[in-house]
Amino acid sequence: MKYKPYSLYNFRKIPQIENLTEEQKFNIEVVGTVLPFKTNNYVIDELIDWDNFEEDPLFILNFPQKEMIDNDSFNKIAALLKNKASKQIVQQEVNKIRLKLNPNPAGQESNVPVFEGKKLNGIQHKYKEIMLFFPTQGQTCHAYCTFCFRWPQFALSEFKFAMKEADSMVSYLKANPKITDVLFTGGDPAVMKTRFFKEYINALLDADIPHLKNIRIGTKSLTFWPYRYTTDDDADELLELFEKVKRKGINIALMVHINHPRELKTKVVKRAVKRLISVGVQVRSQSPLLRKINDNADIWAKNWKEQVKMGIIPYYMFIARDTGAQDYFAVTLYRSWQIFRNAYNQISGICRTVRGPSMSCDPGKVQVVGVSEIKGEKVFVLNFLQGRDSSWVGKPFFAKFDPEAVWFDDLEPAFGDSKFFFEDAYFEMHA
Ligand SMILES: *Cc1c(COP(=O)(O)O)cnc(C)c1O
Ligand code: SF4
Repeated sequence: MKYKPYSLYNFRKIPQIENLTEEQKFNIEVVGTVLPFKTNNYVIDELIDWDNFEEDPLFILNFPQKEMIDNDSFNKIAALLKNKASKQIVQQEVNKIRLKLNPNPAGQESNVPVFEGKKLNGIQHKYKEIMLFFPTQGQTCHAYCTFCFRWPQFALSEFKFAMKEADSMVSYLKANPKITDVLFTGGDPAVMKTRFFKEYINALLDADIPHLKNIRIGTKSLTFWPYRYTTDDDADELLELFEKVKRKGINIALMVHINHPRELKTKVVKRAVKRLISVGVQVRSQSPLLRKINDNADIWAKNWKEQVKMGIIPYYMFIARDTGAQDYFAVTLYRSWQIFRNAYNQISGICRTVRGPSMSCDPGKVQVVGVSEIKGEKVFVLNFLQGRDSSWVGKPFFAKFDPEAVWFDDLEPAFGDSKFFFEDAYFEMHA
């Protein structure tokens, strides 16, 4: 299959779009002006169920929905578009709305290291053993998820993290012997041509860094454009590169986003996974829990079972981040835990490599372990899976139970405490 992208400018040419009313198409235009919108022929032809598109999780995952922005914002942009306002005027209004959508969640800016007097704006280093690398050529995606927490990478240049040169990455890595993992991320690094991958990965291999143990690539491409690993021009070359990493004694892991089990049904995705595994790539899966997409325990159980059958290792279940269309997708922490638990109950031990539900917030990755009652007080039991300070990890702590809470910021310490155990250290770090 040949890749064919669609965006705001040509989506009316998608044959199946005939199924939509004029109003539905206009709604896509309005919301797509604010939130980045892009899809492709594979998602359209193979993943979306057009007979039931209004409720279809894969349609909602790719096409902007009216309720994804608040009414006020919607009406403003709708009026401007109807009145054929100038691009500049529309852009001004769009920027105002975007800035209200928390474009830079979890204090990402503070993860950018300063090295030899220079800010490395294409690296994030939050947890001591892992460094994120944002290659410039990998800052877009084959299709955009409507829940995207990286949307400013596509929409707001001043919030973008990106780096062109491999040298700075290698120097930073050499100077930080505690880093064992490099995670290529984006956007989606797998939109990069193999020749760019080669440049970055060969630089890592040639540098012979003894503490580098794992190279990870975070990607949605496996299920939004699986041909990246099968028939694309440079697919074979990419697999050879992965094999080379493996031969060098470094583990290579593809961290794939799989939101819904239907994404695993096509022949080409199965073939892609087989090919990846055959060259020694570890495939691990993660996904956020999203209302209207996968807020159901059976969907998760089915997803994990199918993944394990294919050789994919379930890794994380996330809670939708507090950015962009979060209000649309949010599932309460309480329900998230119930869904996790009811799904976890249905699977065997080899699927239980998954951890969650987890919130990636500023202090770290906080897992909602469950709800309990201690000395007559109903509480959330929480646990850091990752922490800005690694000594916080694996130490259960408690928050007042709140059935409406959807994010860490909504929580308060339990038992009348004025702060969580890590707060003093956390504020000191930010001082
Ligand atoms: C999630 C995350 C990582 C990866 O953490 P692991 O638990 O090792 O998978 C690294 N850096 C940041 C900023 C993250 O949010
Ligand atoms: S793959 Fe990731 S970065 Fe790309 S649109 Fe989806 S959530 Fe955003």
